[in-house]
Formats: sequence, structure tokens, C-alpha cells
Amino acid sequence: MNDLIIAYHYQQSIILMEKVIIFSAPSGSGKTTLVKHGLSVVPQLSFSISATTRQPRGEEKHAVDYYFLTPEEFRTKISKDEFVEFEEVYTDKYYGTLKSEVERIWKEGKIVIFDVDVKGGIRLKEIFGDKALSIFVMPPSIAELEQRLIKRNTDCAETIKTRVEKAGEEMTYQKHFDKIIVNTDLNEAKVEVEKIINNFINE
Ligand code: 5GP
Repeated sequence: MNDLIIAYHYQQSIILMEKVIIFSAPSGSGKTTLVKHGLSVVPQLSFSISATTRQPRGEEKHAVDYYFLTPEEFRTKISKDEFVEFEEVYTDKYYGTLKSEVERIWKEGKIVIFDVDVKGGIRLKEIFGDKALSIFVMPPSIAELEQRLIKRNTDCAETIKTRVEKAGEEMTYQKHFDKIIVNTDLNEAKVEVEKIINNFINE
């Protein structure tokens, strides 16, 4: 009987741990910095490595930042139903959340943290429901976002233009998210992220 109770509680604790945290934002709003901050201060979190058909940027590494795939490899994974969701975020640039990542992280007893585009974020919230906390990171303004993308110096002028245009539309989706963080001051945003994540974990 005691064993049964222990097994029941063990199962409950696993179920409780099956949570996900979704970060979405227009590109350049500081979302990735905030995701990395969350990962560094909350040990229960583990990053879901997405698959993408875009080329690696700067220091990015395969199987660390992304699984960098050819369009054909990506299509094969679609046909094998290996994605939780995927989007053509920019023309001919596909990004997708792998089912195997969610399973790997939950098996480790950790909470999944996603860094996805706005449509992907809304989709993941629909899929995971109450298990999910969705956070929308807002730049202070579109002009500020453009300046950040220029300063980041990782994208060409054409790519920056595309990202800025898309950002305007993406900002209109913020109402679909559980929490909104306006990233005006990075340190303040980091403190807020920590607080929101810890509240969700301890719920
Ligand atoms: P970047 O090229 O700057 O790394 O990412 C471009 C956009 O794609 C970002 O908003 C990023 O969060 C999003 N993204 C990354 N992985 C995924 C994914 O698995 N699914 C979706 N829908 N978007 C993703």
C-alpha cells in the first residue's frame, strides 16, 4: 500500500513537472537574451532546440542553438510527423519544434522553454493549454527594435527590413499571450522574467 502511495505521488510529481514556458516576440526585442537569462537562473528549465533551414549565424552551433537542416531534411521530418509545430517564419526559412525535444526534456524531469515566433507561440499555447505559460516580449518601439537589429550586426540590410516589417504585424498578437514584458530596461526585464517563471513553477 505504501509503495502504491509513493508510486502515485511520484507519478503526480512527474505530471506536475510536465510544464512548458513559451517566449515569443518580434525579432530584435531581446527575447533570446531573456530566455538565456531564465535558463541561467532557473535550473529546472531546459531549452528546446528547434530545427531550422536557415544558415548558422556568428558563433551558432548545430544541436546547441538549432538543428540546422537542409530543406529536404526538414521536409522529411514534416512527412514523418516529427514536429509539434513548424512555420515558414521568413520566405523559404522554416523553423520547427521537435516532438523529440519535448520528450527528452520532460524525461529529464525538467520544464521546457521555447523561443519561437509569434504564430508558433500561439500554436504551442493552444497545444499545451494549462501546462503552458506564454510570454510576449515587446520592444519599446519599432524604431528601437530596428536600431537593435542594426547594432546586433548579424543580419544584412535586406533581412533587417523584412524583420522590421514583420514586427509591426507581430505586435498585434500580444493579446493572445498570458504575460507581456516590455523590454525597455534589460535589467528590469530580467527581474520580471525571473519572477514570472518562478511563480509559474511553484503554482
Ligand atoms: P532567428 O533566425 O532570429 O534565430 O529566429 C527567427 C524567429 O524564428 C524567431 O522569432 C525565433 O524565435 C523563431 N523560431 C525559432 N525556432 C522556432 C520554432 O521551432 N518554431 C517557430 N514557429 N519559430 C521559431
